[in-house]
Amino acid sequence: MARYGLSKSRLIAWKQCPKRLWLQYHRPDLLEITDETEHRFQIGFEVGEVAQGLHSGGILIEDNDDLSVALASTRKAIDEYPNRPIFEATFQHDGVLVRADLMLPTSGGYRMVEVKSSTSVKPYHVDDCAIQAWVLKQNNIPLCSVELAHIDTSFVYRGAGDHQGLLRYEQLDDLIAPLMADVPEWIQGARNVLAGEEPDVGVGPQCDAPFECPFKTYCTRNIALHDTPEFSLDVFYRMHEPTKELLRRKGFVDACSVPDEYLNETQRWIQRVSRSGIAELLPGAAMALTNLPYPRYYLDFETINLAVPRWVDTSPYSTQVPFQWSCHIETEMGELAHEMFLDVSGNDPRRACAEQMIAILGNIGPIFVYYQAFEKARITELAALFFDLAPKLRAINERIVDLLPIARANYYHPAMKGSWSIKAVLPTVAADLDYTSLAVSGGGDAQDAYREILHPQTTVDRRLNLTAGLYEYCKLDTLAMVRLAWFFQGVQVYAFTDKNVVGEEHMNEKDNKNTRRSLALNVLRQHCQTTQTKAIIGPVSLIQRHMRLGYSAALDLVAELKAEGVLSVTSVVKHDKDR
Ligand code: SF4
Repeated sequence: MARYGLSKSRLIAWKQCPKRLWLQYHRPDLLEITDETEHRFQIGFEVGEVAQGLHSGGILIEDNDDLSVALASTRKAIDEYPNRPIFEATFQHDGVLVRADLMLPTSGGYRMVEVKSSTSVKPYHVDDCAIQAWVLKQNNIPLCSVELAHIDTSFVYRGAGDHQGLLRYEQLDDLIAPLMADVPEWIQGARNVLAGEEPDVGVGPQCDAPFECPFKTYCTRNIALHDTPEFSLDVFYRMHEPTKELLRRKGFVDACSVPDEYLNETQRWIQRVSRSGIAELLPGAAMALTNLPYPRYYLDFETINLAVPRWVDTSPYSTQVPFQWSCHIETEMGELAHEMFLDVSGNDPRRACAEQMIAILGNIGPIFVYYQAFEKARITELAALFFDLAPKLRAINERIVDLLPIARANYYHPAMKGSWSIKAVLPTVAADLDYTSLAVSGGGDAQDAYREILHPQTTVDRRLNLTAGLYEYCKLDTLAMVRLAWFFQGVQVYAFTDKNVVGEEHMNEKDNKNTRRSLALNVLRQHCQTTQTKAIIGPVSLIQRHMRLGYSAALDLVAELKAEGVLSVTSVVKHDKDR
């Protein structure tokens, strides 16, 4: 049998699923690294760097294509500098390669420390350390302890680059001791798998634990085509996993066929809409909004919770620092302006964030958010931080109106598949607003973009692109809320997009201005009459581009339609001022 080379990560992959290891080795072309995995790697890398910085005088064993170089450098460091820490020390035994994050010398041998960006010890960490300790033991390296260093969320950063206390060191000796004898069996088991055919393993809980497997697309390809009903049990909002399991055992995999007695009121609603294919909007949505006064504000934060704190008085993972907000302001029905805050300087953004928000939100008018617990918590934290701003910040919280419970109680579309997240709701009410085409298209993306912007090695061009992506993304989040509120109130919208400008092909640059204007007016008039549009949305620049008109001509055109009574409500985004 061929002696397949193994590493700690390959053995951990085998422990997760033999098929995963086999695919990793024989079919790496099928591997799909998700953004989440990339994100996890990046954070792990950052934490690893800080961990090294906490132990002065360390010798870093550079990764090298030629393994023998790293092995020789490690041996040299141990022999010649017995009192210095070693980072990424590289060892091999029986074709199994490991790299130890930290080797810290003591009078009784090395402390071998595995560094993780998690906040506690996970079962797979113990396997991980057992494999490393076994290889080191076979290399006759004296170990006084085997430890796992993970993030201590109670740590508070006090500045000056001092991260002492960020990591909590947990001794794993007692946990790994019974596993050491098993490691040779793991190695043999992994080699047997690699020497054989692709293992016949069905998808199951192992596909997501301890990590999401990068071969899920491959393994689920046939299931997706043949076995998954359009509405699986996952569409049932807040249905407990044991209930789903019970239903599956009874043969119910299609949400539309589940008997009534297993469902609560919301789940029955979801089932009814899924069966009919017709969305339901209850009058309660309009009733909740109609009498609210203007100006109305639509607010959304983007925040970052760093594993390695950067700003004074912040803690790893637990301090959510708002670095951006977007706010659409509706001064009267359909009259929109836009404001934004985004600090990419790398300085603590919280003070400026709070001050500019106070300036923009004024003293009156409802402030719409989507999931108020998040925005209110951030504002409360800012109030706790800046005593002088606290009364105004608390007053802002008093004005918040949460659109999420209104949506959850009154609106469901089959395409939402059991989710009332804004990303699930938006395509069903405003198909012209599209997150998928954005460079930054989700909260996780926004955090990654911000983290990359702050990274000293990010190029100026890349930083500019990412900053533009953050602008577009956060702005779309609040525009999405505007459109949702309009939808709830029965406002029909004609959105200017590249796809839907009817009649544009009849216009060209050679037409004189009056001809273009007249054609544009007819296009809009026809459209507004046939669909009873009440609102026209889209920045004036877009109207200008499509209708090939100047700014004031575009505004005049809409005003004329309003005067004719074709548009009952004018709604053009008049200006789009970003801070
Ligand atoms: S997707 Fe699941 S079954 Fe397929 S290799 Fe990964 S863990 Fe194994």
